[in-house]
Amino acid sequence: MGVRDSEFGVWLFDSLRSGLVAIDGEGCLVGLNETAARLLGCGADATGSALGRDAREVLAGQPDLLRLLLEALDGSERPSRAELVLEPAGDGAAHTIGFTLVPVRDPGGAVRGAAVFFRDLQPIERMDEQERLRERLAALGQMAAGLAHEIRNPLASMEVLAGLLKRQLAEGSDARELVEELLGELRSLAETVRDGLEFVKPVAPARRGVDVAALVEEALARGLARVPFAGEVRSEFDAALPPLLADPDQLRAVVGNLVVNALEAMRSQGDEARLGIGVHVRAVDRATRKLRVERGGPGRGDDEPARELVIRVSDTGPGVSEELRERIFYPFFTTKESGSGVGLALAQKLVASHGGVLELESPAGPGARFRVRLPLDEEGAS
Ligand code: ADP
Repeated sequence: MGVRDSEFGVWLFDSLRSGLVAIDGEGCLVGLNETAARLLGCGADATGSALGRDAREVLAGQPDLLRLLLEALDGSERPSRAELVLEPAGDGAAHTIGFTLVPVRDPGGAVRGAAVFFRDLQPIERMDEQERLRERLAALGQMAAGLAHEIRNPLASMEVLAGLLKRQLAEGSDARELVEELLGELRSLAETVRDGLEFVKPVAPARRGVDVAALVEEALARGLARVPFAGEVRSEFDAALPPLLADPDQLRAVVGNLVVNALEAMRSQGDEARLGIGVHVRAVDRATRKLRVERGGPGRGDDEPARELVIRVSDTGPGVSEELRERIFYPFFTTKESGSGVGLALAQKLVASHGGVLELESPAGPGARFRVRLPLDEEGAS
C-alpha cells in the first residue's frame, strides 16, 4: 500500500523539500521521507528500515510530533496548521517547524491513518528578520536625512561665526584656544552630518569594466597612507580575473573602508610587526539556483553555473564579538571614539546596489575577515 511501494513513489517522497511522516491506524509508520528523517534526527537509513515499525518506537525522540500524529487518529477536528519546536536532531540544532496535520480517511470517511507535512522555519525566519531590519533601517535613514538637512545650515553658520570670532581674539589667548576647540567640534559634527546624508542618498552605480586587481591594490595603498601600518601586508589575486562591470569609485570606497577598518582595529594590538592585513580576490563558481531558491526568487536552470567575484579583507586584530556581529552593519553604530559608524552600512548598501553581498565571514574571536561577493554574470553586470 502507498506510494512507497513504487520506485517513483520513493523518488517523489525523497524529492520533497517538506518533511513527511505518515502512520496507519495502528500507529505503524507507512511513510517517512529523507527530509523528515534528517530534521527528526532519525538517520538517513531510517527512511526504509523504519517503515512498518511502531511510530511510538521510531519517533520516541520527538514526543510532541508523535503525540500529534496519534491524536489525529481519533479523527476529531483540531487546528491542523501550527508551529512546533523539535527536539535537537543529529546536527544539534533545535529546528522550529511549521506543520500541516491531516487525518487520512477512506472513501467511507473512516480515519485510516494520519500524516504530517512540515517545513523547517529557520531559513524563512532568517529572511523575514533581514527584511524587517532593512525596513527599519530605511525608516531610520529617512529620519536621519530629515534631521541632517535641518542641522546642516545652522551648523555651517556656526562654523562661519566661530571663525569670525576666532579672528577677533588675540593669538595664544585662552579664549582663542577655546574657540579653536569649538571649531574642531563643529567640523567633526559637520562630517557626521555629511556621512549621514551620504548614507541615505540613493546610490546608482555608474558601471564600466573594472580591473579589480588594480582597483583593490589602489584602495589598499590609500588605506595604508591614511592609517600607517608596520605589520605584514599581503595581497593575492587569481591569475586571470575577469573584468567586472562596476562603479569604480563605489567599489574603491567599499574596499578602502574595509582596509581602513582592519588597520584601525589592529592599532590597539601592540607590536605591529606580528600583525597582518590580507586582501584576496578570486573568481568562483557558485550554485546560483540554490541561492536564488533559498532567497525565494525565481530559479535558473538546474545546471547553469554562475560566477562571482569574491574580495576578502582579513586582519589579525581583535575580531568582532558574537554580540556585535549584526550591529556593526547598523548605520551610526561605532565603537571608535571618533568613528561615524557609517562605513560598513554604506559599504553594504553600495555592494547591494551592485547585486552583491558584504558579510562578516570570520567567527567570533580574534581576527576579522570581511567578504564582498559580486555577481560576474548577473543581468546588468559583466
Ligand atoms: P566606524 O569605522 O566609523 O566605526 P564602520 O561602520 O566602518 O564605522 O564600523 C562599525 C564598527 O564595526 C567599528 O566601530 C568596529 O567596532 C567594527 N569593525 C569594523 N571593522 C572591524 C574589524 N576589521 N575588526 C574589528 N571590528 C571592526
